[in-house]
Amino acid sequence: MGLKLFNTLSRSIQEFAPLDPAGKKAGMYCCGPTVYDYAHIGNWRTFVFADLARRYLEFKGYEVKHVMNITDVEDKIIKGVREAKMTLREFTGKYESAFFADMKTLNCLEPHQKPRATEHIPEIIALIEKLLARGVAYKAADGSVYFSIEKYRNCGCNYGQLLKLNFDEMRAGERVASDEYDKESVADFALWKARVSEDGDVFWKSDSLGEGRPGWHIECSAMSMKALGETFDLHLGGEDLKFPHHEDEIAQSEGATGKPFVKYWLHGAFLLVEGKKMSKSLGNFFTLRDLIAKGFTGREIRYLLLTAHYRETFNFTMEGLHGARTALARIDECVGKLRELGVPPSGGPVAEPPKGGTPNLLADFSAALDDDLNISAAWGEVFKWVTETNKRIAVNSLNANDAAAALAAWDKVDSVLGIGTKSEAEIPAEIQALLEARQAARKAKDFKKSDAIRDELKAKGWTIEDTPKGPKLKKI
Ligand SMILES: [Zn+2]
Repeated sequence: MGLKLFNTLSRSIQEFAPLDPAGKKAGMYCCGPTVYDYAHIGNWRTFVFADLARRYLEFKGYEVKHVMNITDVEDKIIKGVREAKMTLREFTGKYESAFFADMKTLNCLEPHQKPRATEHIPEIIALIEKLLARGVAYKAADGSVYFSIEKYRNCGCNYGQLLKLNFDEMRAGERVASDEYDKESVADFALWKARVSEDGDVFWKSDSLGEGRPGWHIECSAMSMKALGETFDLHLGGEDLKFPHHEDEIAQSEGATGKPFVKYWLHGAFLLVEGKKMSKSLGNFFTLRDLIAKGFTGREIRYLLLTAHYRETFNFTMEGLHGARTALARIDECVGKLRELGVPPSGGPVAEPPKGGTPNLLADFSAALDDDLNISAAWGEVFKWVTETNKRIAVNSLNANDAAAALAAWDKVDSVLGIGTKSEAEIPAEIQALLEARQAARKAKDFKKSDAIRDELKAKGWTIEDTPKGPKLKKI
């Protein structure tokens, strides 16, 4: 079955067919972070959604080229540089590395290309020059260059492809220099911002444009087209970026090339925290780091972010995080039992995932995700499989081959979910050391000591299960 996606451009569900004539390669661009602060959990919902899209395309056999930009020059960044009295690179470098560390914590695959805006100034300038030459951009009295929505529309181009805009009621033709502006206004937006004293050292020199820096929207057009070509398959982002950012990306790109920019636009919905829009004043504003500090793991947070369909507003709650812990424990227990049963003889052939049987995890999981990445239905299939598998284990109807085949199917499913299984790596070194000390005590028949260690482990939240294959640690 083919993958179907909701395309914001057509406002409908469409079969995914990449531009590649061989139907194999797929180019995917996702708007990346603006590195002036730590990314919050709402941002992470979008990046986890992009990770799901990429992993599922790969599961379907596509060769994905995943590009995500780093916005490292922008209004808020310049303000931050000024206040922190750092260089631009020092300031953005700190948040950029934090971003990638967080991305790893959430087990998101690293994009194949992560272009920085400041390293693409010549490409950005060339694109602005093209727009000036085509008459859809103009230089204002202060030296800044703006995109003219009126001239663009007069060329027969469509501004308002991602959402319907009422030009009569809106302030069409007004001009904004800010990177983010009132979503109700259809305004000419800055492509190149002439240097002002507040910019400090943050400016570039251009013979044609003068001293200044690029606007936010133009960098995405320049970098996505450089990495993926003038027309590419998929562009993702949060729904807050639909307008004006993505609409402006379309206008700049199509205004310069005269070709369609992107075939499929996918937008992830908002995230609420405890039923409300996140805000620092409400105390419901969380970065990933805040949640880790509360004792949750990246795996639990990833799971929770992945429970709802990407086009549904999602209510992120602490209760949900506790629920994630329980749900993951169910999976871990089932997969753990399968591992005990189905360890393939070393050097032996790896079992093939089962083709039939009840339930057929791979087929059911894939059918759910083919339907516009319906992840909640896909989890439904996973838990149905867990229940069935547990039942079969309980009545001893799974032999080693069945178990190895079930594990192979799970591994394939997990290549999309990216939650892995609780591994020994997650057992803290201190706990592992205590376990080893207990083993040594038992070996030396010092049962008093081994019992004392067992109690100590219990006090730290771990129990030991002695199995025929040796002791196993379990979190209480
Ligand atoms: Zn962008």
